Amino acid sequence: MNSTQVERALAGEITPQIKQLACNENLTQELVRERVAQGRIVLLHNAAHADVVGIGKGLRTKVNASIGTSTDIVDVQDEVSKAQAAQAAGADTLMELSVGGDLDQIRREVLQAVTLPVGNVPLYQAFSEAERKYGDPNRLDEAMLFDLIERQCADGISFMAIHCGINLYTIERLERQGYRYGGLVSKGGASMVAWMRTHGRENPLYEKFDQVVAILKKYDVVLSLGNGLRAGAIGDSFDRAMIQELLINCELAEEGRKMGCQMLVEGPGHVPLDEIEANIILQKRMSNGAPYYMLGPLPTDVGAGYDHITAAIGAAQSARYGADLICYITPAEHLALPNTADVVEGVKAARLAAHIGDLSKYPDRPRSRDLAMSKARRDLDWPGQFQHALFGDDARRIHEERSPQCDSDVCTMCGEFCANRASNAIFERTLKGSAKA
Ligand code: SF4
Repeated sequence: MNSTQVERALAGEITPQIKQLACNENLTQELVRERVAQGRIVLLHNAAHADVVGIGKGLRTKVNASIGTSTDIVDVQDEVSKAQAAQAAGADTLMELSVGGDLDQIRREVLQAVTLPVGNVPLYQAFSEAERKYGDPNRLDEAMLFDLIERQCADGISFMAIHCGINLYTIERLERQGYRYGGLVSKGGASMVAWMRTHGRENPLYEKFDQVVAILKKYDVVLSLGNGLRAGAIGDSFDRAMIQELLINCELAEEGRKMGCQMLVEGPGHVPLDEIEANIILQKRMSNGAPYYMLGPLPTDVGAGYDHITAAIGAAQSARYGADLICYITPAEHLALPNTADVVEGVKAARLAAHIGDLSKYPDRPRSRDLAMSKARRDLDWPGQFQHALFGDDARRIHEERSPQCDSDVCTMCGEFCANRASNAIFERTLKGSAKA
């Protein structure tokens, strides 16, 4: 059986993936190897393509985009287009989360359509298949579930969000708490809780965690410990049920790593801005530094229609305090299945958030791109501005659509009263002569 990246790193091997990541992120190969061995960096790649994506300590904060059909809207070509649009807009990873249509076919088409590492949530297909086969999702049996996980791994899935941390003790915490403003907002989590209640049994993904790990290890798929009881309302942030699941997931992250599997831990959800730092400290301490995959978070519940902005505010804060992978949110969040335009908006908002977070996460690193942009702005260097902007094509389009009527180096915002032009004329030497970079 092939060894995983963790096992190879522990044996002292600098794998081709470690070499590539060290080069991409300007780190030494030995540092990356050490962090992969410690479980503080995970390596993902789409089996059909050479590029590797690293998530974890000391790396650029990455952005995930999620796409997938619903039970109401099934258009495979549309999902393929969304996947490609997410990649073109700069997503680092993709999650294929379809629940409607031929789920094997959709997964395989999306895997072929992009070079990004693709993740998924096996419980979606597992409960869908039980519903189709028996007319009741609660008739899902363990053999079906584990067979399905292996089938998805064999197709080339790079990381799987698996809800191992929901157990009978977690559910007891939820029940004893006796309230929740947002209820359960995870599809996989809610379905697993229903299954456990129906059968009066432990979650097989928790009970047979070693079996889950063994399957993922066989394909070196990263196990992302799903956040089934995440807060779906800021009023539920840090409630006992959510923290209990996080604690178990952090414990499992360590166990999985000791078994040689690459591990991620997932986080909420809806979290007030002032609680994000504490959430990340808890996860990092309890998991011994496992990479943290934050779903947003959304720091308010009232942003419907603009939740890509709400989430970007939370994501910048979470990246700043140490989140390693940010799941984007689209303007359609809580309202409808996102379309391609929503996907693009969501990816761009999350990329900006990750960049802003990284500026403060790594204060000692040169802020070259921001400084180059500042100078280009000061100097009215429009091509320079389009080159350094994160979304240069959008910036160029807006500038050119509303350009001055006469030939001018300023823009139509201030026109003849352009502050940059005026100050350049007055302070040519003093402002430009003392540049730090
Ligand atoms: S016109 Fe105003 S907004 Fe436009 S470049 Fe000059 S100062 Fe900036």
